[in-house]
Amino acid sequence: MDLMTRRGFALSADTVASGGAGSSELSARLKVLFETKLNAAMRMYLDTCARCGICVESCHVYASMPETRYSAVGRAEVVRKIFRRYFKVQGRFAPWLGEVLEFDDDTVRRLYDAAYSCTGCRRCMVHCPFGIDTQQIMGIAKALLLGADQEPKILSMLSDMSVTKGETIVDTRDAFAQALGNLEGEVLALWPKVTKRADGSPNAAIPYGQQGARVLYVALSGSHSMVNAAAIMNAARESWTISSFEAVNFAAFVGDSAKMKLIAARIVNEAKALGVAEVAIVECGTAYRVMRHMMGPQPFKVVAFVELIARYVKEGRIRLDDSLLEGDVTYHDPCQIARNGGIYEEPREVLRAVTPRFVELTPNRAENWCCGGGGGLISMGEMDFRMKSSKVKAEQIAASGAKVITTACENCHSQLVDLNEHYGLGLKVEFLSAIVAKALIS
Ligand code: SF4
Ligand code: SF4
Repeated sequence: MDLMTRRGFALSADTVASGGAGSSELSARLKVLFETKLNAAMRMYLDTCARCGICVESCHVYASMPETRYSAVGRAEVVRKIFRRYFKVQGRFAPWLGEVLEFDDDTVRRLYDAAYSCTGCRRCMVHCPFGIDTQQIMGIAKALLLGADQEPKILSMLSDMSVTKGETIVDTRDAFAQALGNLEGEVLALWPKVTKRADGSPNAAIPYGQQGARVLYVALSGSHSMVNAAAIMNAARESWTISSFEAVNFAAFVGDSAKMKLIAARIVNEAKALGVAEVAIVECGTAYRVMRHMMGPQPFKVVAFVELIARYVKEGRIRLDDSLLEGDVTYHDPCQIARNGGIYEEPREVLRAVTPRFVELTPNRAENWCCGGGGGLISMGEMDFRMKSSKVKAEQIAASGAKVITTACENCHSQLVDLNEHYGLGLKVEFLSAIVAKALIS
């Protein structure tokens, strides 16, 4: 049973009544949309695959549910068949020779099945001899689904809400400041001192709207993403201020590049207006990747929050009690921070400062197995698929013998909590920032 059938997916009455996705007007529109994605790199990805199959075992979904459609090459082949049909001579003039797909309802179903069973982890790319980026190819699948109005509506709704928030921030500023004030007690319980303003007066435990602060910290909506970070930055005597906006970028999950940039631009504009030197992104892999690698050069530096913590440890700006955690402690490399962001050593440096019993997962770093919660799957629910497709991840964690697993990504944390329960792993699942905040000593 494919993903769409399991989700009770049905093409809209309008789509079906008008001849489905195969209606000539919609097909023409999707073809134009596809063409806008065909840059030189994408043409190479679509033309070059040797079908060597090396990537097949790389995908955690295939490794857990061995069906060809859940391999990287199997997924990409759906997009390649459309590419051949509309953009290659053979497909245009002799489609009956096979190996092609027309835009029709069945093709839309296959696109959905391929795109929303891929977490965009790019482990397959590490192993492909041509460096073919299946995540980027799935970006085309997601764009076509948007064009056909068949994307997961929850992701579109969440990304629209973010865009609206950017437009109405002036009206909600006071309420946000008040909500931050309500969290101050929790911050002070972890670290009782607050930083000083330039004039020597005490700052708030969660400073907001501080013109000229050195760091703009971008959190999520959950208080855990604010409280722990605030205690750590206050302990490091950082000059910082919190962003009005959430870091999460749902438009990136649904493949809407225009909205993705709109959502990220709110933070860029805020950082410029405040004149900060650094933007530190909360423990959220996708938010970090979008801001660091997809928004072009900016007049400020972009760091993942774990990089900031590692710097504080290295410079002796925070001191940590390394006796609080019991048993072996391991670390899950979030795909968007590690493999796709190049941040491997900083979390390990932080962990070695909070425990003498750090152990690696095997494999790790660029080879780490994806947790199985990325690509929007957590926001979409998808519990059954997430658990089945991450069996290999659960086995990897169990083999480590660790009693605590830490990570630096909200999505990964949620997925690890679910895996822990579903597979009875018996671990504690912790954010890196949470264990650091609890271990702060003066
Ligand atoms: S990006 Fe990750 S989930 Fe997607 S096909 Fe490659 S290995 Fe599988
Ligand atoms: S490893 Fe690369 S070339 Fe080989 S099948 Fe996979 S995507 Fe194609």
